[in-house]
Amino acid sequence: MSNYVVLARRWRPRSFETLIGQDHVTRALIHALDSGRLSHAFLFSGIRGTGKTTLARLLALCLNCEQGTTSKPCGVCGSCREIIAGNHPDVLEVDAASRTKVEQMRELLDMVGYAPTHSRFRIFILDEVHMLSVPSFNALLKTLEEPPGHVKFLFATTELRKLPATILSRCQRYELKRVSEETLCAHMSRILEQETIPFENNALQLVATAAEGSVRDALSLLDQVISHGSGTVAFETVSQLLGLTNRESTLGIIAHLLTGDGKKLLAALTLVYQNGVEPESMVRDILAALHAEVRAKVTLSDADDPGEVAPTDHWKGLVRTISLEHLQMVYMVLNKGGQELRLTDHPWRALEMLLLRACYLAPIPDLKKLIRVLGSESGPGGGSAMPTETQGPSMPPSSQPVSAAAPLESPHVRQSQSGLPRVETVQFPEDWDRFIAFVGVKHKPLAMKLSTQLACLEFRCPDDQQSGRIALQWINDCFGTSEGIRKTVEDFIVQMFDVKVEIVVHAAGAVCRPETLQERDSRVQEEAMGQLERDIRAHPDLRALTTRFNAEILSIAPVEHRSLH
Ligand SMILES: [Zn+2]
Repeated sequence: MSNYVVLARRWRPRSFETLIGQDHVTRALIHALDSGRLSHAFLFSGIRGTGKTTLARLLALCLNCEQGTTSKPCGVCGSCREIIAGNHPDVLEVDAASRTKVEQMRELLDMVGYAPTHSRFRIFILDEVHMLSVPSFNALLKTLEEPPGHVKFLFATTELRKLPATILSRCQRYELKRVSEETLCAHMSRILEQETIPFENNALQLVATAAEGSVRDALSLLDQVISHGSGTVAFETVSQLLGLTNRESTLGIIAHLLTGDGKKLLAALTLVYQNGVEPESMVRDILAALHAEVRAKVTLSDADDPGEVAPTDHWKGLVRTISLEHLQMVYMVLNKGGQELRLTDHPWRALEMLLLRACYLAPIPDLKKLIRVLGSESGPGGGSAMPTETQGPSMPPSSQPVSAAAPLESPHVRQSQSGLPRVETVQFPEDWDRFIAFVGVKHKPLAMKLSTQLACLEFRCPDDQQSGRIALQWINDCFGTSEGIRKTVEDFIVQMFDVKVEIVVHAAGAVCRPETLQERDSRVQEEAMGQLERDIRAHPDLRALTTRFNAEILSIAPVEHRSLH
């Protein structure tokens, strides 16, 4: 390998045709060359490794080829060969980053006055030109304003925005684009075929993705892969080099994550850790896989009933049992936590904690499945939609309790005879507060109504011995019909919990009714404010102040936008 020339150099384009991914630029340059409309300054901008200096050198060939200025330099004449070898006396290539000072710029510009030694143009190639100091730019600008006819400036920069407008306006500008993954893959496979190096297509795809549009990055990564893979380009080698998890272990980790198996999750993570995988790329892979699953789930459920499709393998079967909501929740947690990984000193520790957090997220029941099961249980026309405020028969306000007389239609989902899978249900909340909190997640308008317009007289959880009972009372009869709210709450409970709960709604006007949640919350807050105000007034420092200045406290108010706690 001692004489090994890196791919990026060996395959550096010698003509516009072999430069990939920048057709818009090469076309414009060829046109400018063929029509003889040539500026004295050219500027190539774009991200690293897209061909800026390559284009500048190509242009130098075109300008100084002994066959005459052309868009198709011969590549074999003395001038062409000297430029390719990098020792043409009239073509000067300078890295502006290493010569930012104005003295160095003056030194360079002094050469502008001399005629070229043995070619048409004296060509200055300035790479990373945005690095020049302001005085250097000013010196350069003077030359650009009145350049001798035998001088051409070819600038290259990765940061166009850092160039003064006065310079920009005096250049013919060409913006290079990121090279697409497809173009990169085709380019790499062409090179590897000619080098007779065996390769796997999916390996090239990985390289192309990692290169992020840079040809040079792609080729230098390819060099590394070839030397690591002893002369071949294999998917495994690339993913090891890039610190990528392999698909299998990612899927394994997701499976443990979704089934809530923390122990297996940690074991799988340890394995991945030993393979040198980067935590961030791990999270990225999991997110990508989850995203794909959510998409598949959505498109599949639109096209077909997921319950009818036989699982093709273990993993797909597993994911199918997880609700869309749960997948999205896990995605959300990982997406947010993943961004914090790079801020911590111990990314692996943080990754473990993050994945465990996602692992122990409470599963959310698949709403559609629940509703479908309920619908099939209650016979034709019995399927109900999302819980909404049902338009019940209008009832006059009455002091008689309206009880749930009709029996619940499908209390026994678990013993379903329909052949559909058993539906996982969530635990029934143990008190009114938690019940409303749960409703708030699923059905916000209903939760609002329950917490502001109804007081809870009785709340009994259903258990093995008896069915549950919730007794409510309107705080004001004008808010709605008792039958309407009774039906809505009842529908909601049946759909969510698969349990029998009797709902009773009393009219307003009873002598003593408990507070609504909203009333309680504002009372608690008022009490806290009152206590706080008393504490402040009694504070010795404040009392000393008021005595000292003979002052009086008129009012005490919380600072806006700031919590008191
Ligand atoms: Zn030539």
